[in-house]
Amino acid sequence: MIKEIAIGVALAAFIFLILQGINLLPLLLLGVLSYLLYSLSGMKVLNKDFQGQIPTRAQKITFADVGGQENAKMEIKEALEFIKDSSRAQKLGIRPLKGILLAGPPGTGKTLLAKAAAAYTGASFVATAGSEFVEMYAGVGAQRVRELFKRARELAQRENRKNAAVFIDEIDVLGGKRGQHSGHLEYDQTLNQLLVEMDGISTTDEVRILLMAATNRADLLDPALLRPGRFDRIIRVELPDKGARLQILKLHTDNKPLAADVDLEDIARQTFGFSGAHLESLANEAAIFALRGGDKKLQQRHLVEAIDKVMMGEKLDRRPSEEDLRRAAIHETGHAIISELVRPNSVSTVTIVPRGEALGYIRQMPETDSYLLTKQHLEEQIQVLVAGAIAEEMLLHSRSTGASNDFSEAARLAQQMVFAGMSYLGIVARDSLPQSLLHRAVTRILREQEKIVTEDLKGRIDILTTVSGELFREEKLSGESLRQFIHSGDKPSPKARLA
Ligand code: ATP
Repeated sequence: MIKEIAIGVALAAFIFLILQGINLLPLLLLGVLSYLLYSLSGMKVLNKDFQGQIPTRAQKITFADVGGQENAKMEIKEALEFIKDSSRAQKLGIRPLKGILLAGPPGTGKTLLAKAAAAYTGASFVATAGSEFVEMYAGVGAQRVRELFKRARELAQRENRKNAAVFIDEIDVLGGKRGQHSGHLEYDQTLNQLLVEMDGISTTDEVRILLMAATNRADLLDPALLRPGRFDRIIRVELPDKGARLQILKLHTDNKPLAADVDLEDIARQTFGFSGAHLESLANEAAIFALRGGDKKLQQRHLVEAIDKVMMGEKLDRRPSEEDLRRAAIHETGHAIISELVRPNSVSTVTIVPRGEALGYIRQMPETDSYLLTKQHLEEQIQVLVAGAIAEEMLLHSRSTGASNDFSEAARLAQQMVFAGMSYLGIVARDSLPQSLLHRAVTRILREQEKIVTEDLKGRIDILTTVSGELFREEKLSGESLRQFIHSGDKPSPKARLA
């Protein structure tokens, strides 16, 4: 902003002086000369910026501040024992551990683990991100790598420590496979420099450096980085399971006053697929809801509302037309009825309060975290997904674009079934399966599930009408009230269908 204003003022002054008839040639030459000098010293200037950015001293984060991730913690601790007790390692001739790579989805606590690792070894900690090394000036990235390691050593000396931990987040940005970037020479030089620095780490160094890095895409990294002697340990940091989610929720609500009705275990059950970062945000949003409502303590309803907020985004201010809301209520009720039918007690909320991109949505509650999906489970998920459009068709005799995302997801699941050998094609070779065959198998799965849902909803038109009317009036129904409606008019009971 300041730069733009300065350029504007300079230009105005320039034109004014020309209009006054003043010879500006010497001034112009001086300007060009200064610009050239500035460009040549560009690397230095950039480095100055960079110096301000690299070192982030770890606040006192310990492994106790990282919820779950027991495996990752154990592996890291085991790896760090060599650093903590380096004399023993030296006596046995063990070469120092040079690098630990933390690989896993975003927000799962990789940075936290790196900070905790630094604190565990009593090391100084400097953190940076891969993107900090990307510059269009040749050689700048490599120089920044050198600078990073130098700074880590200096910091450790200043803090009177023997170890320094260097953490590079998003290492895939600078450590991608060589020769593949468009401006690849610069990238390659930067990576080469990192390899050189890693090779230079030795047990006899005054300050021992441990490089830790994090990535969501370990598959993109150059093999040279991953070979033994560079990143010796690759540790998977996964999305938390239910127990870990509970631990993370406890950690992030520890500093917040909780009302007696708060059941964190229930929240942990409802948040399958959430990362640690999602859960941190959930706790924070719940506190904001409490503040907005003038409550002194966080209540369960604040936490439940925060799940929706984190999953679907902020409520929209604009109110859709009545016609759209009626259609959304029918659509969501269709999803909800089939969800309860295929898996009783699975709906936790159904709502037509628009949030983010969605006019309405149902939130399902997984019974247990499951990572392997059976054919039946996938088919049932497809049934739930297509039920919205079928409900619309039944009561309104037309479909809408509101179902597009449902269909994309249903097709994705059907495709997953085909590749897992669950379709009429049997076991298939994923890479050589012709598109037309894949299309035929996917369509057949979708048609079959559509037929089942149509039959199921046909027998429940009354429930569909009553519940969607209630949802339209109330805007939101809890799983319990939905089940009451269904059971009061449902014959036969949902369980009878499954038997
Ligand atoms: P990215 O890959 O996007 O860089 P990351 O895996 O490094 O993410 P962090 O930066 O460590 O994730 O986590 C972000 C925030 O989420 C943390 O500051 C913390 O508040 C919360 N968080 C994530 N995982 C955990 C966890 N296991 N325990 C407690 N808090 C967590």
